[in-house]
Amino acid sequence: MNIPINSKDVTPRIIKELTNTLKLIPGIGPKSARRIAFFLINQPDSYLKNFANILTKLKSNLIRCSFCNVVSETDPCSICADEQREKNKIVIVRHSLHLFALEQIKIHSGYYFVFDYQIFSASEITNDPEYKKPLKMLLKRVEYLLKESNEKLEIIFAFSANFEDEALLLDIKKALTEKFDGKIVITRFAIGLQPGSDIDFVDEFTLEQSYKSRQKT
Ligand SMILES: [Zn+2]
Repeated sequence: MNIPINSKDVTPRIIKELTNTLKLIPGIGPKSARRIAFFLINQPDSYLKNFANILTKLKSNLIRCSFCNVVSETDPCSICADEQREKNKIVIVRHSLHLFALEQIKIHSGYYFVFDYQIFSASEITNDPEYKKPLKMLLKRVEYLLKESNEKLEIIFAFSANFEDEALLLDIKKALTEKFDGKIVITRFAIGLQPGSDIDFVDEFTLEQSYKSRQKT
């Protein structure tokens, strides 16, 4: 007797919901999502409760620093509140994650700015109010540092060499040069000079070298 092949997916719905949610995380494919889901299923209740608790608090416990735009528990963040840092250098990163990675390797003793902005159309950047918000913050921050240090400010871009970051870098550079020409020097990380190089995937050593061998742009 032939047993009919039952192709119906018998995975419980809650597991499917969990794997579908996990799949949205960058770098997590369907297989990894299933593996994480089954890892979670096998954990004690106390672990899961703690995990759920952290997820619930994640957003409510974080704010944006009104000086550098990084996600932080305080405003100003601990870096902007630190008066001992060098006031003649500022690194512009695309995401808070990149700021934390740079702080970890202790290579930069100046300040930072997180230019968190999602580009939808490169031709419309300058008219987008969502772009104007971080730009206004950055111009204010640069103005403040110039006043405080009384010397030329080096503005260092830690951007990737992809289409989005390149388009954004050009627009920010234009706005900075228009307002502060002669008072600033604009440089960029070496990693952003290679086509296709992505700052998300570099190790600490490359990040450090990239900072040290930054070039004028
Ligand atoms: Zn800050």
